[in-house]
Amino acid sequence: MKTRSLLSILLVATALFSSSCCSNNEKQAPNKAKNVIVLIGDGMGPAQVYSLILTSPEKTAFQRFPYSGFSITKSASNEITDSAAGGTAIAIGKKTTNKMVGMSPDSIAVPSMLELFAEQGKKTGVVVTCSVTHATPADFIAHNINRNNNEEIALEISNKSKLDVLFGGGKKYFTERKDSLDLLGKMWENGWNVYDSLPQIEDNNARTMVLTCRKHLVKAPERGDYLPKATAKAIEMLDNSENGFFLMIEGSQIDFACHDNDSATLIEEMRDFNNTLNIVLDFAEKDQNTLVVVTADHETGGLTIVDPEGNYTRTDFKWSTGSHSAVFVPVFSYGPGAEKFSGIMDNTEIIERIMEIAK
Ligand code: MG
Ligand code: ZN
Repeated sequence: MKTRSLLSILLVATALFSSSCCSNNEKQAPNKAKNVIVLIGDGMGPAQVYSLILTSPEKTAFQRFPYSGFSITKSASNEITDSAAGGTAIAIGKKTTNKMVGMSPDSIAVPSMLELFAEQGKKTGVVVTCSVTHATPADFIAHNINRNNNEEIALEISNKSKLDVLFGGGKKYFTERKDSLDLLGKMWENGWNVYDSLPQIEDNNARTMVLTCRKHLVKAPERGDYLPKATAKAIEMLDNSENGFFLMIEGSQIDFACHDNDSATLIEEMRDFNNTLNIVLDFAEKDQNTLVVVTADHETGGLTIVDPEGNYTRTDFKWSTGSHSAVFVPVFSYGPGAEKFSGIMDNTEIIERIMEIAK
């Protein structure tokens, strides 16, 4: 009796051991992704994500991610970063001085992950709900000493040789310029298709810029499902290259709502970002060859969720600043190599991990 039970324990142990060997072997296969999609919720700290979970009857897209971690956002110049330096750290992997875009603190332009991927032959795109010259998109597609130089940034974008899809706002920086240059006309001459609405796109293979308004788009929910739709269109246009694609999508106006300490608009912006995440995850689940990384450049508003009477019985949104805060921000990841984004990382480490995983 004793021998038999010992034997069966041994058999079970052997089975467990060999099955864990097999799954380990599978995990040891190189985790490489052909496509990379990075989503940035500007100003989206842990409380902003929880505000969505708290007010959503159904499971949110954030809860679909198998891995999560935290990113430390401070810049080279300040414990509290602005969007220019926070996005630059993600885009180029170097901390910089607040206000600087795509540059190290010594004012040297450093290639962004979008530019590195374009060099590798991937198609590239950017989708935002602000002006395409605003800090976060500019961090990926331009290099400038000051985020407020919108016209210089527009000029740099118009000269870009490797960018396939650009959707957002900011038309005035291309057409109502101090130097009177007609950048849109120049872009048409250089082979770009330029439109002011997404349905005008006829050729999915042409380099395409769609600027739907003079500056930023209107806030959620007034702008409807622009961001999820623009994201789906960008994926459709980029997902036809042998070498894969890189796409950066920004929930730009989460930050705007938080600067205004506007809880109702924050929830609308988070819902819009959530719908966009669901589109991206549905694609990545089907594709099985796409790394998806979601993070933020910093937290905005110093948001917390408390019972003002301290009784644990009700929840109220409390804002502690109209500016940014120093708290770390979440990182969510899905797809090949996604496990590399767990734990606490510096914002400059995100690009290192992405470049390791991307084929
Ligand atoms: Mg931004
Ligand atoms: Zn901000």
